[in-house]
Amino acid sequence: MPGTAGRMKSDRHDLRSVQPSASTTVVGVIGHPIAHSLSPLLHNTAFGALGIDWVSVGFPVAEGQAEVALAGARALGVRGLSVTMPHKEAAAAIAEETTAIAARLGAVNCLDSVDGRWIGDSTDGAGLVAALAHAPGVDPVGLRCLVVGAGGAARAVVAALADAGAAEVVVVNRTQRRADVAASLAGPIGRVGTGEDARECDLVVNATPMGMADVEGHPEGWPVDPSLLGPDQVAVDLVYHPATTPWLAAAADQGATTVNGLGMLVHQAALQIERWTGMAAPVEDMWAAVADRPL
Ligand code: NAP
Repeated sequence: MPGTAGRMKSDRHDLRSVQPSASTTVVGVIGHPIAHSLSPLLHNTAFGALGIDWVSVGFPVAEGQAEVALAGARALGVRGLSVTMPHKEAAAAIAEETTAIAARLGAVNCLDSVDGRWIGDSTDGAGLVAALAHAPGVDPVGLRCLVVGAGGAARAVVAALADAGAAEVVVVNRTQRRADVAASLAGPIGRVGTGEDARECDLVVNATPMGMADVEGHPEGWPVDPSLLGPDQVAVDLVYHPATTPWLAAAADQGATTVNGLGMLVHQAALQIERWTGMAAPVEDMWAAVADRPL
């Protein structure tokens, strides 16, 4: 496996005191802005727990610069990249090869350098499905699902829920044209709906920035009316800053099981680690790294 030769440590606490060297395998995250990204923390926690000599750093890459950045990263021998806003679509276009899900979404959040070629993957949707399985132990098979939003995150979630066996995926979005595109990713079980459909759904996902702190414009309001939710339902908010959005708190007050966006963040990163290293990701350590951190 590339990059694991050299200093191997069985104790992750020992590895943390080892400085990166000329033989360290480098991965990173590209985006703009990037300083707030938790990806390096998640990746480095995993590398420490796995006892491998890898390091992850943030690379600030301005919009329109993805192509030159990826050429440079390839020349520098960067092993893999996590890709975030605003480069997910550009990365899908630049990658020499894309996985089926990345091609379907037209978006890439993970680049893997294999034999000098970038392989593009999308782990966001699978990350959410894995997070639901981790806690609260929800399997989408046979569930009626509603996704609010039709952006990159929503589209990944719609496709993943359909692929995981959901009975129905309803998309609700401010802009109808984008709702149509997102719903089509679920194939015959996808349709565009309204917030009222939440009453009949088992799983309701907010995939908009509504309720997110420190965002330009401070989007407010409810993704769906919380009074439509109850004890037999699961409410998921992809937002994790704050850890409990007003909507998630209101859904909990209605008796719904609630899940915030931290799990998706952790599990999409875990899937990236597995793709790059071929090793099982230390998910519990990764969870602990972000759960202990003030958001
Ligand atoms: P995006 O591509 O910009 O899409 C945003 C979506 O939200 C669009 O459908 C937009 O509707 C809708 N929207 C935005 N503001 C709204 C408002 N005030 N009222 C109603 N709808 C509004 O963003 P994204 O990348 O999909 O991300 C969406 C959210 O998911 C963000 O909060 C992001 O932080 C979160 N996220 C979390 C994770 C995780 O790992 N937990 C991963 C990715 C994203 P229009 O189509 O009408 O513009």
